[in-house]
Amino acid sequence: MSAVPAKVAGAVRVNRQFRLVRRPVGAPVPEDFQYAETPVVEPREGEILVQSVYLSLDPAMRGWMSEQRSYMPPVELGEVMRAGAAGRVIASRDPGFAPGDWVTGILGAQDYPVAKAYELTKVDPALGSMPVHLSALGVPGMTAYFGLTDLAQVKEGDRVLISGAAGAVGTMAGQIAKLKGAKVVGIAGGEKKCRLLTEQLGFDAAIDYKSEDVMHAIRRHFRRGVQVYFDNVGGPILDAALANLAIGARVVLCGAISQYNSTEGVQGPKNYLSILVNRATVRGLLVFDYVERYPEAQRDIGAWIAAGKVKPVVDIVEGFETFPDALMKLFRGENVGKLMLRVAAE
Ligand code: NAP
Repeated sequence: MSAVPAKVAGAVRVNRQFRLVRRPVGAPVPEDFQYAETPVVEPREGEILVQSVYLSLDPAMRGWMSEQRSYMPPVELGEVMRAGAAGRVIASRDPGFAPGDWVTGILGAQDYPVAKAYELTKVDPALGSMPVHLSALGVPGMTAYFGLTDLAQVKEGDRVLISGAAGAVGTMAGQIAKLKGAKVVGIAGGEKKCRLLTEQLGFDAAIDYKSEDVMHAIRRHFRRGVQVYFDNVGGPILDAALANLAIGARVVLCGAISQYNSTEGVQGPKNYLSILVNRATVRGLLVFDYVERYPEAQRDIGAWIAAGKVKPVVDIVEGFETFPDALMKLFRGENVGKLMLRVAAE
């Protein structure tokens, strides 16, 4: 148990925040957020004061900004923008946490969140750096792992296609599918991202959707059809994948980033009859369903990292004040691997 150190409490340090003040129409813009400074708050009984060091930037944040209720309620206007974070405990009034502990949680776009114990996960710095805990050992790694092993049941020799392949989830999904003995082709935007996939992450091939005809490229790489399609983007790329399914294919719907900023509603797949013709299964994935099993995935992924079989790919942007613009990088395709913001020194 500890009180807030004097140099953190009160007016000496402020808690910078970005609050949601407007619901975006189309892509989010900086005016949707308001910058604010508040005093650092003393934790009450059962609470923990954290200093966030990395803020996680995720496509899901776009959904949380809109009015529709999804698997989580929308962020209310005026509230601190919801965001994942990794940080260190500054002061604790819960016996489970002590100053200096490293934690992750959904702590908001702010420097000094105060959280309840159940809102925090203690992480072991010996298993990896904070960026690794937000990427390979965090939500993106968990998403890739359970999407492939539980939903798609990927196995040796499977022909696997992954969209959004150079992103946080995609880079992990491709590497995990390779470790399971699959043939893996990734779809990503631009030559540089495609080279990363094949030259550094072990993908068998990559399709640059910005310069290639995706439908034909998939057909060229999968003459006998796609057996597992892991979809991060939706839209026309999902359609091209559906048109190339093998009989009995397993499709994992993980995300649809091409649709998140649509002002005309979500564009559904045109080629859905391919699911019928090929007796395919389509399963929706929500990583939070697997929270109880995260340790299992973290054990495997941690061992693969230690053995040099999986490379975490992280993209770190500096500076709290860049939050609104840094978030937009996801929708402009400017990130490679897991995008996060460093807001304090480690
Ligand atoms: P990310 O892939 O690291 O970043 C987003 C990437 O999406 C961009 O870098 C960009 O790459 C691509 N993109 C953006 N607009 C696009 C468009 N119009 N068409 C095609 N690609 C586009 O993000 P992430 O965190 O790994 O998330 C990937 C997907 O997984 C998202 O859809 C997210 O919502 C979903 N997700 C789902 C769960 C779950 O539980 N179901 C959990 C985590 C994430 P390019 O340069 O290649 O275009």
